[in-house]
Amino acid sequence: MSLLDVDRELTRNSYYAATAARAAGYPALDANLDCDVAVVGGGLAGLSAAIELADRGYSVVLLEAQQVGWGASGRNGGQVIAGLACDQATIEAQLGTAEARRIWDMTLEALRLIGERRERFAIDCDWQAGFLGLATSPRKARDLAQWQAHMQEAYGYETRAIGAADVGDWIASPRYHGGYHDPLGGHLHPLKYSLGLARAAAQLGVRIHEGTAVTALQPLPPGRSVRLATARGSVRASHVLLAGNVYLDGLAPALVGRIMPVGTYIVASEPLAPGLAGSLVPSMSAVCDTNFVLDYFRPTLDHRMLYGGRVSYSTATPLNLAAGMQRRMAGTFPQLRDAKVEYAWGGFVDISMNRAPDFGRLGKPGQACENVYYLQGFSGHGLALTGLAGRLVAEAIAGDAERFDTFARIRHRPFPGGRLLRMPALVAGMAYYRLRDLL
Ligand SMILES: Cc1cc2nc3c(=O)[nH]c(=O)nc-3n(C[C@H](O)[C@H](O)[C@H](O)COP(=O)(O)OP(=O)(O)OC[C@H]3O[C@@H](n4cnc5c(N)ncnc54)[C@H](O)[C@@H]3O)c2cc1C
Repeated sequence: MSLLDVDRELTRNSYYAATAARAAGYPALDANLDCDVAVVGGGLAGLSAAIELADRGYSVVLLEAQQVGWGASGRNGGQVIAGLACDQATIEAQLGTAEARRIWDMTLEALRLIGERRERFAIDCDWQAGFLGLATSPRKARDLAQWQAHMQEAYGYETRAIGAADVGDWIASPRYHGGYHDPLGGHLHPLKYSLGLARAAAQLGVRIHEGTAVTALQPLPPGRSVRLATARGSVRASHVLLAGNVYLDGLAPALVGRIMPVGTYIVASEPLAPGLAGSLVPSMSAVCDTNFVLDYFRPTLDHRMLYGGRVSYSTATPLNLAAGMQRRMAGTFPQLRDAKVEYAWGGFVDISMNRAPDFGRLGKPGQACENVYYLQGFSGHGLALTGLAGRLVAEAIAGDAERFDTFARIRHRPFPGGRLLRMPALVAGMAYYRLRDLL
């Protein structure tokens, strides 16, 4: 089974697809178009860039192989979290503290951007404020408390520390030993949000074509424009953005080895009695634990528990997914031992070697494809950051690449073993971290 086949299977029983209304859809491309910017991928990264570019007066065509929001953007945990998937220390080591601080501040801008867009485009997507980071052992609670204090002092990141004595006020689970609460973070229905952004982009004049896979990318030397080929048409653009997540295999081989598709899975319980639902996480915050292979969960506005976790380093979906995830959920909340799972789905995240985002241009200045931008490597932490990333691409195309280039300076290595052997190499690395999670 190909990654795409597995992925189609994984979307079949999604709570989000069942609870978000798709409008009529956008037509497949059936013509040869010219535009300023062509965007490949109708996830949050591509949609955000399209909106920002249209706002700046560019003509934009967005090509989506399936449907907008079909990929990770319409299936994720819905958790809106500050920062990057890697720790700030990774960025400090590469770029120094001043640049690391700028990047951190941009991740907070990414959180605010979600609020601005919800308001500006009247997107009703079940927003709920509040994020909890919780530690699963006393040692991890000490580490987390140190991190929280450091982030407050060095980055001015204001969160509320939660000690062991108070953790029961925040979560009705025996698993946790301390943590922090971030009022800026929160959670939302990611498919409703993605569809809202697509609607906004179309209203701003972006031409969206669904069911339109880009099959080839050809730089055209005169004027350095680029031609994108699709089954029944083509697009010639002065600039291109590749925002295709883990699906760009044939299109940009240079990028593919630097990310790894890793499966992650979510279940939604049946609606719980309102009193029970409200008691599990009284603040209604989104929750992530501190494990490397983490559990992430949140109560929904219709009183379900959405519980995410597990990872798969082959493209195969774990056997008995729903039952396995139910056990995991009941491990955290014994109160949910008998709660039925009504939906189970998943998707692939684009993990980079160092878990830092991988933004850049395909060609060096003066070379072919210098006008082809890419955004990848969100490493499971892209719901908010994709929005900011799209803005940075638009700024760069409009002539101010300073903020985009701050991210583009983060260095990335390909996974050892190339495309074929990268999976075993990652599995070996992850086994080490899983062991650490248990200690
Ligand atoms: C199960 C799961 C849970 C997650 N939970 C969270 C979370 O709670 N919080 C968080 O911050 N992040 C989370 N993430 C990560 C987050 O969802 C992603 O980082 C983010 O959505 C990536 O957006 P994107 O636009 O880059 O990719 P996608 O949303 O995957 O969009 C890429 C799109 O490009 C299209 N495409 C690809 N190739 C082509 C082509 N050749 N031609 C045309 N179209 C093409 C695809 O069809 C796809 O629709 C999660 C991810 C998953 C899978």
